[in-house]
Amino acid sequence: MNKYSIVIHGGAGTLVKGLMTPEKEEEYKTALSAALEKGYAILENNGSAMEAIESAVNYLEDSPLFNAGKGSVFTNDGTHEMDAAIMDGKTLDAGAVSLITGIKNPISLARDIMEKTDHVFLAGEGAMRFANSLGYNIETPDYFYDEHRYQQWQNIKDSDKFQLDHSMKKEGKFGTVGAVACDKNGNIAAATSTGGMTNKRWGRVGDSPMIGSGTYANNKTCAVSCTGSGEYFIRGVVAYDVSCLMEYKGMSLQEAASEVINKRVLEIGGDGGLIAVDADGNIAMPFNTEGMYRGCKNSNGLNKVLIYRN
Ligand code: ASP
Repeated sequence: MNKYSIVIHGGAGTLVKGLMTPEKEEEYKTALSAALEKGYAILENNGSAMEAIESAVNYLEDSPLFNAGKGSVFTNDGTHEMDAAIMDGKTLDAGAVSLITGIKNPISLARDIMEKTDHVFLAGEGAMRFANSLGYNIETPDYFYDEHRYQQWQNIKDSDKFQLDHSMKKEGKFGTVGAVACDKNGNIAAATSTGGMTNKRWGRVGDSPMIGSGTYANNKTCAVSCTGSGEYFIRGVVAYDVSCLMEYKGMSLQEAASEVINKRVLEIGGDGGLIAVDADGNIAMPFNTEGMYRGCKNSNGLNKVLIYRN
């Protein structure tokens, strides 16, 4: 049997020890652990990597602590526009959605796009019509409301600035969520879900829903979910770059993931991190920021939830 594993993230950024209260830190760790356990239990019970990552991401989307689903950041118009993508490494099937509002679990809509349409990517009004046709509940804006994120938006809403989610010492922390997993059959999958960036305008879409940039999976190489300054992750085609370094240069998962985050992304001015697995169940979680909410668990007994660098 293959070693099986799951890795999750809840965003990267200026997470410095001492700037967060112990209570807040505990809240984040508890939520990350619970999401990790949900996904891992599915793998343990012979479920697929796809099922495991959807379940873990659903949990994080339902938590107001993270910038995805409930707790998504505010756009310049004072609304919530969410993006998500999911990819199956065995079949290379993928589903992505952007600019949606009122959907409690955008990752599930992305999966429905993958499984129930001939398309990969639906956006805005059309994506909402598709959701309606499947009978999705449309939540009212107060479901997504979070006081902290409202204040973040109030601070910059009259400026041209758009910013990454909540920060401790300066503005620059990303709250996007993601999961990658490798199941008992050696199949891998990746999922990413986000509210994007505070005060974003004009239908701005980040890297998260873009296959190859924020999300990618291929059994031959790796499954990757990113978090960070989306505009740079799009230009760096970051998730696919990790896969390419493995496929064309023969790098290990660790080497490729680290090369991309600690070198290539930095060189073009981007900051953030990623989580990744390969079909042998190996794990990588590099980031070039002070911290990244992250957790990993595998069938060899590894079980960790971390926030800071050390
Ligand atoms: N990458 C996301 C975006 O640019 C933000 C994040 O990771 O929090 O939309």
